[in-house]
Amino acid sequence: MCIFCKIINHEIPSAVVYEDQDVLAILDISQVTKGHTLVMPKKHVRNILEADDETAEACIRTAKMLAKRIVERTGAAGVNVLTNCGEAAGQTVEHLHFHIIPRYSSNDAITIEFNPSEKQDLEAVCALLKED
Ligand code: 5GP
Ligand code: ZN
Repeated sequence: MCIFCKIINHEIPSAVVYEDQDVLAILDISQVTKGHTLVMPKKHVRNILEADDETAEACIRTAKMLAKRIVERTGAAGVNVLTNCGEAAGQTVEHLHFHIIPRYSSNDAITIEFNPSEKQDLEAVCALLKED
């Protein structure tokens, strides 16, 4: 059984911020910033690509609700809501989860940068991604 399933089954203790029949939200054990929270479905699905719509929707609704609450109660200046999918994207626990990371300033312990790299042919990329 995966580590988050053990947390969901209360076999491993955690700081529960929110719980309903489908979703659990806990504090991340390594608080990147104060209030760093993980929202996960109770059903074991590996990641967002493998989640059914209902499961993804339940997580995103909860993440939205909690992001608002966390910003209000911590006084954060902003918040990142993100899910890592696959090893290449930094996923270390293979049970879908959304990170809610309140941001207090641009020089806190997390850096998310969007640096331009190889120039892309936008028309070709768009044609690849657009529905036929
Ligand atoms: P990922 O890298 O898969 O996106 O994020 C996994 C997160 O789970 C990490 O930020 C890590 O600190 C957190 N984590 C791993 N094990 C535990 C645990 O046993 N309890 C809690 N609360 N968080 C955990
Ligand atoms: Zn699991």
